[in-house]
Order: sequence, then C-alpha cells, then structure tokens
Amino acid sequence: MEERPSPLDALNAHIVACDRCPRLRAHCQEVARVRRRAYADIEYWGRPVPSFGDPQARVLVLGLAPGAHGSNRTGRMFTGDGSGDFLFPVLHEAGFASQPKAVDRQDGMELTGLWIAAVVRCAPPANKPTPEEQRNCAPWLDEEMRLLTGLRVAVCLGRIAFDGLLAHAQRTALPGTMPPRSAFPFGHGAEFTLPSGLRLLASYHPSLQNTNTGKLTRPMFLDIFQRARRLADLS
Ligand code: SF4
Repeated sequence: MEERPSPLDALNAHIVACDRCPRLRAHCQEVARVRRRAYADIEYWGRPVPSFGDPQARVLVLGLAPGAHGSNRTGRMFTGDGSGDFLFPVLHEAGFASQPKAVDRQDGMELTGLWIAAVVRCAPPANKPTPEEQRNCAPWLDEEMRLLTGLRVAVCLGRIAFDGLLAHAQRTALPGTMPPRSAFPFGHGAEFTLPSGLRLLASYHPSLQNTNTGKLTRPMFLDIFQRARRLADLS
C-alpha cells in the first residue's frame, strides 16, 4: 500500500503548488528563465519554496522570503545564497544543523530540533513583498504552526518576519489575551512570551547588507541560537 505523506509533507506540497500571488509567481518564473550568469547551467526551482527541518522541532526559524538566486534556485530555505552561508555555520555550531554548508537539496543537510519557514514563500522583487502578498501567505504559517506541536521558541529573522509572527499570534490567540502591538518593540535580541506560551526571539536578518556592514556579527547571531536552545530546554 502506498504510504500517505505526513501532514507537514502534505502542507509543503500545497505550498509548492500555490499561485495566490500572480506578481510573485511571474517574478520567480522570470528569474528562473533568465538566470544569473554563474548559474546559467542550473535549472532553477522557480516555485514557492517549502519549509524544511525536523517535524519534532522545538525551535522555529522564520525568515522573510526566498532569495531570487538562493532558495528560488535551489528549492530549499536559505540554501545557496549569502544569507544561508551566514546562517548554517551558526546553526551547525549551535547544534541544530548536521553540517555548516548548505549547497542544494541533495547536500545531506539535516536539522535537529529546528524548522525553517518564511512569512512569504516566493521570491519578491527587491526582497519587498506587498502587504497583500504577506496576507496571502499567512494561512500557510497558521497551518504549519498548528502542525508543529512541539514548538517552544520562534526566532524571527528581521522585522517583517517578526511582524508576521505577531500577526499569526494575534489571529490565533484567545479573544482579549494578545497584548497590543506596542508591547513588542523589535530589536536584535529582544525576547517575549506570547499568550500561547511560545517564546519569541527577535534577530536582525542575516542579509549581506547586515552581515557585510557588521550590523549583525557571527557572535551576535550565535548568541541568539544558543539562547533559543536554552529556552527550548534542548541539551
Ligand atoms: S507568496 Fe505565498 S501565497 Fe503568494 S503565491 Fe507564493 S506561496 Fe502562495
């Protein structure tokens, strides 16, 4: 008998087939058609990028959106671009990733205790999804959070991911239990507890703009994931 996909695998299959945002779908396909010269011989993924990680995860990493020539090329979150080159060595050192280098979907990377998702699953022009596109993608996060029953900590990479996670908390909190947005000022290292009990850790995004300028350093980023480990009671 054919094995049924797990609920998270089934959700990922729905995400990959999603076409709610015509502007983003057209952009991803155009980037995949034209390609960057360095990747001219590589077939781009060009579709919405599924989430990736350990279904038993206690820690969620929430990014902004796939990079045009990173995840939109490789088909795996944070794989194949500068942000991933900064993220995965830190995840490896913090004990979440089996190896420090993420190259493509066949590179053998395994995550333990950690799940990687994004508030928008298609690469947006200039890395700027519209508010409507963020709203279109939000139901995927809601469903994913419902299925990830072991989650204790969410690490939000950048302000848009942070706002996306707070919007999710607002949608799913019991009436009257969610404090106002002003109770959650964004800052690197800021830490909060949501009404559900989920701990929220804010971090600057590991974009080249932040890492090349020293706004986000490796020790700062490692500290975030070591804290996430402690908050999640992972040894
Ligand atoms: S960004 Fe999200 S909602 Fe929009 S098409 Fe991609 S997967 Fe669908």
